[in-house]
Order: sequence, then structure tokens, then C-alpha cells
Amino acid sequence: MKTISKAVQLATELVARPSITPDDQDCQLLLAERLAILGFKVEHFQDQSVKNAWIRKGKENPLFVFAGHTDVVPTGSRDLWHYDPFILTESDGFLYGRGIADMKGNIAAMVIATAHFIEKHPNHKGSIAFLLTSDEEGPAIDGTIKVIDRLKARQEIPTWCVVGEPSSQDKVGDTIKVGRRGSLTGIITIRGIQGHVAYPHLADNPMHKSFNFLQQLISESWDEGTAEFPPTTFQMVHCQSGGEASNIIPEELKVQFNLRYAPCTTANQLIERIENKLKFNQLNHCSSIQWVHSAKPFFTGPGFLRDQVVQVIQEVTGFSPKCCTSGGTSDGRFIAPLGTELIELGVCNRTIHQMNECVKREDIDDLTILYERLLTRLLT
Ligand SMILES: [Zn+2]
Repeated sequence: MKTISKAVQLATELVARPSITPDDQDCQLLLAERLAILGFKVEHFQDQSVKNAWIRKGKENPLFVFAGHTDVVPTGSRDLWHYDPFILTESDGFLYGRGIADMKGNIAAMVIATAHFIEKHPNHKGSIAFLLTSDEEGPAIDGTIKVIDRLKARQEIPTWCVVGEPSSQDKVGDTIKVGRRGSLTGIITIRGIQGHVAYPHLADNPMHKSFNFLQQLISESWDEGTAEFPPTTFQMVHCQSGGEASNIIPEELKVQFNLRYAPCTTANQLIERIENKLKFNQLNHCSSIQWVHSAKPFFTGPGFLRDQVVQVIQEVTGFSPKCCTSGGTSDGRFIAPLGTELIELGVCNRTIHQMNECVKREDIDDLTILYERLLTRLLT
């Protein structure tokens, strides 16, 4: 029988808690207890329905932070899971369970790596902290940002941060995230005049008059991206008009769209360009737009932390990681603006948010080694 590593053991305990956003199910309490034994000072925060924690050992700089979320997305249809999603189950070298990749396995690796590191280097320099939230998969309004506000108020600024999001593709460490694109959503309402389809001269069809405008948004080239960021993309995500009867021209069209944008373009520039297109298509007088700017882009260029992470991966795995900025946004967007060097490194993301979410068992142990080596490089 194989021995179960400490990281897999801890991941098993975390997966057993069905912590669907924002319900933490005491995952943070469990982690805090483990860290308190190692000499960490624990602060728990309740922000609305969200649990957050800041758990730190040491008072000195540099301050290294592991950031992560204890919440998971819902399971979807339980019938389509091969195993109970809340009982971590091993099969053919893979561990199955909701949140094992995103990101309970990664959090377990962080805690065990820290325990190993402190055992070997009880007098390490600087400080280590954990920033935990139960609101990453949800609106992220009362999560990491609330802890960051407190840290800012008391001038406790992390020097380096590793976010444990599942960054890898095929093998742990083959890809790290060095930044993320920004996210801008627009909800546009275009008004017409309702009428009978047989009397179109008495009505004003909001869909007909919006087609050119929407076509222009779809075919627009927003920018060329940068060396490290892909070009800005536009996607329509929701479209609604009429549908009540086959003989009515509806009075209104609602379209929701989202832009993922590179740092060479700002959200304000995108807003201006889209509002100008409305004017150009003479739709500005019969429309309104609501903008939701949920994420600014962030980026950690080549520098100390990024170099150290790359070198650790090379040392342990023999290959160089790809540094990329693809994928959705992450809580790194709240931390990086403090001036903190920030990298995302975690297990493979192939099955995240899917039924039968899984990771290779050995990836959890390899990640634990990577995290421990990184701590050794940074804090000894
Ligand atoms: Zn995640």
C-alpha cells in the first residue's frame, strides 16, 4: 500500500468540507490550527457572508505571502460524478474531488511546504503569511480585497506573493501566470417603438437598428496585445428582445458583452470607443449603457520573484515554465497593485470547474516540493 503524503491527507480533509462560495465550512479554521502550531498568529475576519483570514509568522520584512481561496464552485449534476465529489478518491494515480485542483490541493501543498521549511529553518529571515478567502469563485467583493484594505491601512505590504491558482497545463510547473487581463462588462439597452409586425412604418425595431453597431463591435480590432498579453477580445454574452408573440415588434433590445483587455489599452479607452460607435450609428439618443469594470490587468515582469520561481522549477523538474497571462482574472488583481511581485503557480487546470475535477496525485507532492524550495530560496 502506498503511503499517503501529508499534503494529500490535508487535501482530503479540505475536500470533505463542501465549501461552496461563500460557505467556508471551517476550512480556514482547520488551516489556521495547523499553522498556529508552527508559530503563526491568526486573524479571522467575517466580511458579510464571507470568511477571510490573515495568518502570519514573523514581524520582519521581506514578507512572503501564500494567497488562496477555500471556496469551491457547485458540483453540477452529482449523477455525472464517478465518485462522491466531497470524498477525495484515488483512481489510476488521479485524485478526484470538487476543489482538489481549484484550489484545495494547492493550499494543502502550501501548508505542508511551510511546515517542512520551518522545521528545517526555524530561524529563517523575513515573514511568511497566508491570505485566505471564501469568496474567490463568487462576486469577490468581500473577499481578498477586504483583507488587502486592512493590510494597506496598517502598512503591512507583502514583498512577494504566490497565488495557488491551478496554473499548469500538463505537468505541474510547466506554466506559471505572471499577470492577467482586465475585465470590462457592458450592459446596453437600445430602445425602439413597439408595434404590429404588419405595420412596421408605425414602429421602430430596436434589433434592426442595432445590427450594424453590434457587427462593428464584433469585428473591431481593439489592440494588438503586448509581448506578454494576447490582444483584447470582445464577446457578446447575452442578448434579449421580444419573444412574446410572433406579431409584435419589441420595444427594446438588451445586450450584454465582456471585454478581456490587455494593459496596452485602458478600460476608459474601451468605453470611449464603444460610446463613439453608438453615436456614429445614431443610437446614442435611444440607448443607455451600464458599465461594470470588475478587474484591472496586472503583470509581474522579469524580476526577482519571477526569476526565483523559474529557477526553482528548472531545478526540480528540469524544464523551464512558460510564463503566461491567459485565462480569467484572479485575486492577484487585488494584491499586485500594492507593488507586490506576484506569480501564480499551482497544479494542472484541465478539469477545474468540471464534473470529475481531478489532479495527478504526484502533482500535489511535486507542488509541495516546489513551494518549499521557493521558500528556501527567498527566506534563507
Ligand atoms: Zn481558483
